[in-house]
Amino acid sequence: MKTYVATKNLGKLEEMRAIFAGTELELDTYPLYAEAPEPEHNYAGNAESKARSLHKQLREAGVHGAVLADDSGLEVAALGGRPGVLSARYAGKDATWPARREKLLEEMADVPPDNRGAKFCCAMMLVLEDGTAFNGYGEVQGVITGEEQGRFGFGYDPVFFYPPAGKAFAELDEDEKNRISHRRLAADALLAAFRARA
Ligand code: IMP
Repeated sequence: MKTYVATKNLGKLEEMRAIFAGTELELDTYPLYAEAPEPEHNYAGNAESKARSLHKQLREAGVHGAVLADDSGLEVAALGGRPGVLSARYAGKDATWPARREKLLEEMADVPPDNRGAKFCCAMMLVLEDGTAFNGYGEVQGVITGEEQGRFGFGYDPVFFYPPAGKAFAELDEDEKNRISHRRLAADALLAAFRARA
C-alpha cells in the first residue's frame, strides 16, 4: 500500500523506510508536503496533526495513498522531562544539531551519573485513504552521556547512551538501532493494530 510519510526530516525518513521495509506499507515522500503545525503538548496529538494535514493535502491534489506520521522526542528526567515534545525546537527553532546537543550537555554538566536517565518517545499514526486511522507508541530508556559519542544516526543520538548495548545510539549501526528504537517499537504497535483491523 502506497504510504506517504509526513516529514521533511531525512534522518527520520531513512529510519522509517528501513523499519517498514518488507511490510505491507510501501513508504514514499510527498515533496510538496507543507509542514503541519505541532499544536499539542503530546506526541500522539502532534502525530495526528501531521497525518491529517498531509492526508488533506494529498486529497486536494488528487493523489492516492495512505499517510504515515510520527512525533518523537527526548525526555530527560533531571530536566523534568524536557525537551520532550519540544525536542526539535530545543535551543531555538533555527539552532543547529551540534548546538542543541551542546546545550543539553551543558544543562546536564552538574548532574551526577545516577541521575542522567532519559527516554526517547515516539507516537505514530497511519491514516488510510478513507480516513481510518491506526496508532502506535514506543519508548526506549537510556542515559545522557557526558560528551558526544559516535557518528551514526541523527538528532540526539550521540548523547543518548543505551545500556543494553553498552553504546550510544550514534554508535549503533542502522540495523542495530532500528531493531530496538522507540520508532521501531511504535511501528510494531502500529502494524499490529493495522493487521488486526476488521
Ligand atoms: P519531531 O518528531 O519532528 O517533532 O522531532 C522530534 C525531535 O526529537 C527530532 O528532531 C530529534 O531531534 C529528536 N529525536 C526523535 N527521535 C530521535 C532519534 O531516534 N534520534 C535522535 N533524535 C531523535
